[in-house]
Amino acid sequence: MRYHVIHIKTSFKEEWQKDVFDQTLCNYGVDTIDGENYYIPSEVWAINSQRIMYFCVMHEDDGSVHWEGVEECPDENWNAVWESEHPVQELPLGIRIIPHCAFGAGYHETTSMMIDYLQQSAVSRQHSVFRKVLDHGTGTGVLAIFAKRLGAEHVVAVDIDEKSVANAKENAALNGEEIEVLHASAFSRQPSAFSLILANIHRNILLEYMPSYAASLTTGGELWMSGFYEEDCPVLIEAAAANGLRHLATHAKNEWRMLMFGKTINN
Ligand code: SAH
Repeated sequence: MRYHVIHIKTSFKEEWQKDVFDQTLCNYGVDTIDGENYYIPSEVWAINSQRIMYFCVMHEDDGSVHWEGVEECPDENWNAVWESEHPVQELPLGIRIIPHCAFGAGYHETTSMMIDYLQQSAVSRQHSVFRKVLDHGTGTGVLAIFAKRLGAEHVVAVDIDEKSVANAKENAALNGEEIEVLHASAFSRQPSAFSLILANIHRNILLEYMPSYAASLTTGGELWMSGFYEEDCPVLIEAAAANGLRHLATHAKNEWRMLMFGKTINN
């Protein structure tokens, strides 16, 4: 496949603004981002070039984006070259992740906190919450893959973004882990279906899905969420309590927070 590479310099104040910018370019067909280089299949570029340029020009006004040009990649076998120059991410337990455009290379605080506690729980609790696991907003599939590697009997991973679904399937296969990966905005409510729900998503999405999370947990099941800051914790804890979920613990890594809840009664 032939590729074009777009060169864009960005200087956003917040990390999440760059994430949103990158995600929009992915929605326009960019399939790999490497620093200031945005790679897009040439046939997609031919269709979407106007939209992409317009989107970037909108940001140029506030100085956060600078368009540096676009060119056709000389190498037809570009994907293989890229992958040889950017080896897969090597994570604990021998887990390997190719991130492409999906979020979840494993190093971001919001992801690595979840990984740390998955590893600790697998040791200390003898897999009591590892029976049926749901990873809501799976991205690269990283958390789902860890849960499976750590002994979960069955893991369901869902994502709203089709590229993430494809990437999670690819990474599950790369790691030889069998995971049910679904393209869905949410899991359909399955009462008492999951012993552990993992959700590393934006605060507002977590709030929106709190009733579904609570209904879908088994009694004794746990909900672990991350992807937010200290100031978001009270409202999340309150929403969880309103849905019968007891606050078990708060963890921190830099400015990021992770919350753990337990379901003690059936609701
Ligand atoms: N679980 C990974 C990725 C987290 S990024 C990790 O921990 O690193 C959050 C992911 O949630 C993105 O891939 C995004 O596409 C997905 N997402 C956002 N809203 C969603 C929704 N309503 N339902 C399912 N997935 C959603």
